[in-house]
Amino acid sequence: MRAVTCQKGALEVAEVADPTPERGHVVLEVRACGICGSDLHARHHCDDMAEDVAATGYDAFMRSDQSVVMGHEFCGEVADHGPRTSRRLKPGTLAVSLPMVRTGGRVHTTGLSVNAPGAYAERVLVQEALTLPVPNGLPARFAAMTEPMAVALHAVRRGDVGKKQVAYVIGCGLIGLGVIAMLKATGVRTVVASDLSPGRRALATAMGADVVVDPAVASPYSVHSDRFLAADALLELAVGTTEKLRSVPMLPWWNVFRAADKAGLGPEAPVVFECVGVPGMINQVITSAPIWSRVVVVGVCMGSDQIRPSIGINKEIDLRFVLGYTPDEFRAALHLLADGKVEPSPLVTGTVGLDGVAAAFEALGDPEKHAKILVDPQSTEVSA
Ligand SMILES: [Zn+2]
Repeated sequence: MRAVTCQKGALEVAEVADPTPERGHVVLEVRACGICGSDLHARHHCDDMAEDVAATGYDAFMRSDQSVVMGHEFCGEVADHGPRTSRRLKPGTLAVSLPMVRTGGRVHTTGLSVNAPGAYAERVLVQEALTLPVPNGLPARFAAMTEPMAVALHAVRRGDVGKKQVAYVIGCGLIGLGVIAMLKATGVRTVVASDLSPGRRALATAMGADVVVDPAVASPYSVHSDRFLAADALLELAVGTTEKLRSVPMLPWWNVFRAADKAGLGPEAPVVFECVGVPGMINQVITSAPIWSRVVVVGVCMGSDQIRPSIGINKEIDLRFVLGYTPDEFRAALHLLADGKVEPSPLVTGTVGLDGVAAAFEALGDPEKHAKILVDPQSTEVSA
């Protein structure tokens, strides 16, 4: 079959072996596969990424000297089943799958390991247990958005955002835009988004952001800043509240404090999603965000970075990092798309065939022109 291989940074269309389904496997005929920012990065820096991943216990991430077929955000038609499969999905069924497959007795990351070729190809091997039929007639080009939307949903869930809390989304790349969509889909009332690019700010509005800020003009945290207290007001609140409570004779004032804290009746704090991923961003967020902010780090910064812990301590910042998603979040993302609760059409800005993948990688460098480019192996389009 035809596929796009990546080796030593070169993307080439090549004839590669057709996938052979073994126990538990299904073969999908690829209908659409998104080009992910991590693919752009892995093309040139996969050895660094492989080192970081190996340090957590997975040593089979792609290496630059290997010939790897990337593509992990895909949708396709069921074409073939391996032995010991339920065959619940009939041939021709449109399906998506988590990009993980067990080959050679180990689970590998599809499209990011030489052991599990991805979907910049006519066909891709998937694990039957991780494969879901696309509901509600959702077209393949939107179903292929399930994977990045699952990343966004996971970030929002890990952010534990209350519907009445303010959410700030810093950086409106594809994942930032997905986070905005998932915040709105899960009922968060106030979403403030920030990006230097006018094109990205327009997409942030299209995905449902309530306020969109150009950080070169104003701080995103200046929006709704009246809802959060600064240190002097918090000191006054602590003393004033204690004075009031202790003026009531016999009142166990310490229990009132604890109960109020448990019920979330304390001063408000926002959740900030850092979706830029360049050195200096985490420190900038910690420095500028309100006291008690929960900061969710979604943007993947590959360089070393510095923070000033005393700033985080003075504000009691809650810093969280997120990766990937769970199988149930992947399913939930698919259904949010299929039920129309998340509208991905503004994000899909181009489609190319396999021969256009290299050009699409270049085109994605311009944030004004593109958000998500899809690969459709049946298309003959060579420019995005
Ligand atoms: Zn991705």
